[in-house]
Amino acid sequence: MALKLYNTLTRQKAAFEPIDPKNVRMYVCGPTVYDYAHIGNARPVIVFDLLFRLLRYIFGPDHVTYVRNITDVDDKINARAARDYPDLPLNDAIRKVTQATEDQFHKDIDALGMLPPTYEPRATEYIRRPEGGEDMVSIIETLVRNGHAYVAEDHVLFDVASMPDYGRLSNRSLDEMEAGARVEVAPYKKGPMDFVLWKPSKPGEPAWPSPAGIKTPGRPGWHIECSAMSGALLGPVFDIHGGGIDLTFPHHENEIAQSRCAHGTSVMANVWMHNGFLQVEGEKMSKSLGNFITIHELLETDRFGGQRWPGDVLRLTMLRTHYRQPIDWTVSALRENHKLWVSIGNLIRDRAEATEHDEAFLEALEDDLNTPAAFARLFELRDAASGGDELAAQKLRKAFKLLGFLREWKFNEEIVVPAHGPLELPDIIPRIFETNGDIELDAWAKHFEKSYGADADSIVAFLRRFSAGTTVRAIRPLKDNWTNLIELTDERLEARKRKDFKESDRIRDELARMGITLKDVKNKDTGEIETTWEVAR
Ligand code: AMP
Ligand code: ZN
Repeated sequence: MALKLYNTLTRQKAAFEPIDPKNVRMYVCGPTVYDYAHIGNARPVIVFDLLFRLLRYIFGPDHVTYVRNITDVDDKINARAARDYPDLPLNDAIRKVTQATEDQFHKDIDALGMLPPTYEPRATEYIRRPEGGEDMVSIIETLVRNGHAYVAEDHVLFDVASMPDYGRLSNRSLDEMEAGARVEVAPYKKGPMDFVLWKPSKPGEPAWPSPAGIKTPGRPGWHIECSAMSGALLGPVFDIHGGGIDLTFPHHENEIAQSRCAHGTSVMANVWMHNGFLQVEGEKMSKSLGNFITIHELLETDRFGGQRWPGDVLRLTMLRTHYRQPIDWTVSALRENHKLWVSIGNLIRDRAEATEHDEAFLEALEDDLNTPAAFARLFELRDAASGGDELAAQKLRKAFKLLGFLREWKFNEEIVVPAHGPLELPDIIPRIFETNGDIELDAWAKHFEKSYGADADSIVAFLRRFSAGTTVRAIRPLKDNWTNLIELTDERLEARKRKDFKESDRIRDELARMGITLKDVKNKDTGEIETTWEVAR
């Protein structure tokens, strides 16, 4: 069966035909970085990650280009920066807010097991590109030149009346929209639905030299950024454009207007896909209702349901509802999916992988990402596997790998641990040396902590003594004498306690020859000095 996708533009499900099967191109509107991402924001990230995985499976991992942007210029960002850093110049404050939020976003979605997109452009890098190529300013100038935009009071506005089929995506005629418009219409607009491509900046706000002969510096409107980033990275017409359903109008409608009128094309993207909305325990998520919940809180605190949730469980819960349906995010669903995740992990972690995918599973996914049907099939396989059907177990494993779930389980697969009792360093550490060099020791520590709790205390303590970010590859040179590392470090601490500084310096030098720099830090809780390890590069 071939991949079928529902297209908001045609309101139909149709076979997906890529423009170039050697380079399938997808753009998804990313986060505005001013605050923690909430679990609603996670939905498009998770849904389009699944589509990215499926496209890579169908067309080959090197034949899919996925762009998900970061919106780092926005009124909400400016307001947050002014509130949080009142003493800093606004531009410095903005940089602090956007950088911290972007880092947090990456931490959150890494924990959800998302593949990184091929490109993750920041809007501010595409306002004016010194290196040339399409950018917001060049698109705006083209639109002014070809009569689709006009300058008024230092703004540039898109002239909606200049585009006969404006409104096709959201399926509304211009007359209907104008009748329903509740926006207060600025006097300089020709038509009430005309939207801003460029506007003057207030004093102190971020500002760039304006296009179209405007003398005062300004900044872009919201919609133009996605036209510029998709045009620059994917070309004037590409395959799939995605985002949440709320973006259909005005954001996507206006992206289409800008891109098509600048490029002279009949479409911007062939397929437009929109995920449904998420609500929490039956209510719209809102700060005032107190049910506003961030990805970070779900992963790292017990605010929702009294426990921290593994990233895989959040993702599993999200995917069990079809992406176009609304989803109700509840504690009871998380509990159920947590149990399911643990039981399936136990069932498949030590299996081989089937050579072929289960057909019914794949067909369900290829039918517009019908994940509820796909999981229904996987539960049949699970039941068969529990009854001793080895092929069913192997197919289950292959399916969960395609869905991207093997990452947290993968650790278990690489290191077989004793079924009961505390984990011993000599059993485990040598095996960590053999694993994927790119994985950080922190990730291993987290894995052991999560999977084995107090039984893994000594393993976790060992791994955590290396400085943050140390990879398996970095410690490989210690493969044959890692036990010395512990002994010598302990001896040195003893020597220091005896005030035998000659001996402690001798040991420090010996470790330095092994490539290890020591750092003494006082434990905040116990007041004891502890020594951590830094691997020399
Ligand atoms: P924003 O940062 O508000 O621009 O939103 C980023 C993405 O999250 C967009 O694709 C939105 O459509 C999506 N989104 C925001 N809130 C929700 C929600 N409650 N449910 C599903 N998607 C959402
Ligand atoms: Zn966008």
